[in-house]
Amino acid sequence: MARPEVRELGQGRRLLDLDFRDTEGLVAAYLLPEADGWSLIETGPSTCREALLAGVDAAGVARDEIRHVFVTHIHLDHAGGVGALLEALPRATFYAHELGVPHLIDPTKLIASARRAWGAAADPLWGPILPVPAPRIVALRGGETFPLRGGELSVLATPGHAKHHLSYFDSAIRGMFTGDSAGVRLERSDHLRPAVPPPDLDLDLLFSSLEAMRRADPRLVLFSHFGPSPDGSRDLARYRGVVERWRDAALAAARENPDPSFVARRLAELDAVDLAQGPATDRESLVSGYELAARGFLRYFETRGLIGAAPP
Ligand SMILES: [Zn+2]
Repeated sequence: MARPEVRELGQGRRLLDLDFRDTEGLVAAYLLPEADGWSLIETGPSTCREALLAGVDAAGVARDEIRHVFVTHIHLDHAGGVGALLEALPRATFYAHELGVPHLIDPTKLIASARRAWGAAADPLWGPILPVPAPRIVALRGGETFPLRGGELSVLATPGHAKHHLSYFDSAIRGMFTGDSAGVRLERSDHLRPAVPPPDLDLDLLFSSLEAMRRADPRLVLFSHFGPSPDGSRDLARYRGVVERWRDAALAAARENPDPSFVARRLAELDAVDLAQGPATDRESLVSGYELAARGFLRYFETRGLIGAAPP
């Protein structure tokens, strides 16, 4: 594992690089100071547990000072590590959307869907997905606030990418932690990659969630994939258009051939020639692949009657 990267974001807020897939700049977590203790946003998967804890140590934060751990949603690259951190963060309470909490308490369905989506690669990629005892986890629905040093953390319900997605707004730095609700934007790249996976992708909700985040007027947008954007409010404004171009290309492709690999190839082709954006990078596929996006759109089109039944 590489030396943990900890980056100061202002007012004591810190970014931790979780070194997902032994690659820097893919999955981030954030440490936010409270009056007496720390909040953590995102845990990453349990394969990132050691990198996360090394980052906490390197940030000079005692593990038992972490009191609140917020996840944006329960997809494994964001919250797969929750259950594996219970002992290492003994005084932390964990928080997720109320629709996600039951699956963190009993991860049977999370494990089954990881195996379905990733096959034999699931275990080395995600590591163990351990249950969280109910007393350690609290359900959120949006609208809650938590005190931070210099401000407060507000919870926004931002469904679309998943129906249980939350974003978090830190008033002290006017920073919006978007999880996957505003797509993927890796550092040193101007390219936005849609994060549109199955099973509950909903584009109307996704677009209204983007509006809700814009209304908060963030000065900083902090992606889980990855880091603070140099022009985050512009990213929030342009993400809708990027998703709409992908949607249109995916629908045209699906009507020609509703095979996920075929649709995925069309999305990759579009990405290569989409001059409204900077160039795509291969690294984006490590956190948001074309095949997953194709499956997300196919299911979305199918459940809305826009195409015939897609293959399972
Ligand atoms: Zn993600």
